[in-house]
Amino acid sequence: MKYVSTRGNFDSVNAAEAIKLGMVPPGGLFVPEGIPVIDSKKLISLAGKGYREIAREILGMFLTDYLPEEIDECIQKAYNDNNFDHPDMAPLYKLDNSSYVLELWHGPTAAFKDMALQIMPHFLSRAIEKLGVDRETVILVATSGDTGKAALEGFKNVPGIKIIVFYPYGGVSKVQELQMTTTDGDNTYVVAVRGNFDDCQNAVKQVFGDEAYNSFLAEKGYELSSANSINWGRLLPQIVYYFWAYLDLVGKKVVSQGDKVNFVVPTGNFGNILAGYYAFRMGLPINKLICASNENRVLTDFFATGTYDRNREFIKTVSPSMDILISSNLERFLFEMTGHDAGKISEWLGQLNREGQFQADENTRRETERILSAGYASEEETLETIRTVFEKYGYTVDTHTAVGVKVYSDYVRETGDRTVTVLDATANPFKFNRAVLEALKGEDAIAGKDEFEILRELEKITGMETHRGLKNLDSRPVKYDRVSDKGDIKKDIEEILGL
Ligand SMILES: *Cc1c(COP(=O)(O)O)cnc(C)c1O
Repeated sequence: MKYVSTRGNFDSVNAAEAIKLGMVPPGGLFVPEGIPVIDSKKLISLAGKGYREIAREILGMFLTDYLPEEIDECIQKAYNDNNFDHPDMAPLYKLDNSSYVLELWHGPTAAFKDMALQIMPHFLSRAIEKLGVDRETVILVATSGDTGKAALEGFKNVPGIKIIVFYPYGGVSKVQELQMTTTDGDNTYVVAVRGNFDDCQNAVKQVFGDEAYNSFLAEKGYELSSANSINWGRLLPQIVYYFWAYLDLVGKKVVSQGDKVNFVVPTGNFGNILAGYYAFRMGLPINKLICASNENRVLTDFFATGTYDRNREFIKTVSPSMDILISSNLERFLFEMTGHDAGKISEWLGQLNREGQFQADENTRRETERILSAGYASEEETLETIRTVFEKYGYTVDTHTAVGVKVYSDYVRETGDRTVTVLDATANPFKFNRAVLEALKGEDAIAGKDEFEILRELEKITGMETHRGLKNLDSRPVKYDRVSDKGDIKKDIEEILGL
């Protein structure tokens, strides 16, 4: 299988190269040239099978330049009971007869990013081997919180690779900071940067784009790469859990083979929901993909009007991992919606870059409506939903998942659609403990309490145990305390690499 650029500006490459490059060098994203379709008999035969077996089938259809044994090895290293605390990796929790929560947070860092970042480093290290790259790879990550820790855990101790994570000093929660700065592994490094997330991201982007600096690193035996969600290697593993969830429901006789289901996806960069769309195109019986946004509702507006407009206030919400105004993976979706019209994609994305907005044509909007429905939740509605889900089902959802639940209940009210629905749960509620406790017990319950007191309080109220990735963070040794200025990150890289 070959991968092409959404902007038609690069020769096609195989999977290993797409994963090594991360994004298309002159701009654009790698997408499969054609989406493979799963044979319906094959699909039936997978009902009730385990996560690893389903992963083997799906990944194999895309990674045609990897040997089956290589894919198997990546799967074994990623999806095992050392990394995931549930034998199903992503278990389904039944809310009622027509709605199920897909818990995507059983990996080491308590957010759904682990589903991809536990396996992607192994894809990358195989790719480096296959392509005969002899320099050491240095992964640079700018993070606003969740991605940094998930990437550190994924790349920790992977041979031939070093990873350096930059986060905004004072700009992440105490739990998130400690999750990162207490990471072990002999190839992981963490730097706090004075500034906000945009400063971190821009500083890292500048290093990627600095040709002279990249040549200097190459001379010293290093090559830079990236682990963010525009890398095909991060998107691909997410397709698997859409198949897994459906086949688990068939196995449990909740739906019959061929019956359609809906998926509700709390959305930021559009990676997760796009994986669901690829699953649909591969032949998974999906009725609607429901795209849920928070108050940064740039996608809700886009799907309603056809105009994408990022010229608006950036709102800091209680679901920070969805606080995004430029949804990078939408580009891949539009590529499919326009029938692979790279000219249109280049034009629209160019306009977005220059003017902060673009207008899609009516055909594209109509095509989108056939599979996708979109809505958003306000801050108040998000907290209220956490409380009502707990009261009604005795089940605790995090702030991101709550956005999905709220948008789904609006959808049911507006459409009357009773199709069995899977709600993606993207984080463990303890990861966003402050907002969750406030939602359940009111503002007074969090006043004057530190993160660890709040975790203990949540345990009492919900009857859940604190996720292992968040436990004892206050007693683990802090390994990194480097604080730097945004203009100095090249110096940091050099010091870390010992140049
Ligand atoms: C990253 C993240 C999201 C957004 O996912 P996208 O793939 O960027 O749409 C939602 N919830 C949580 C908890 C996340 O960490």
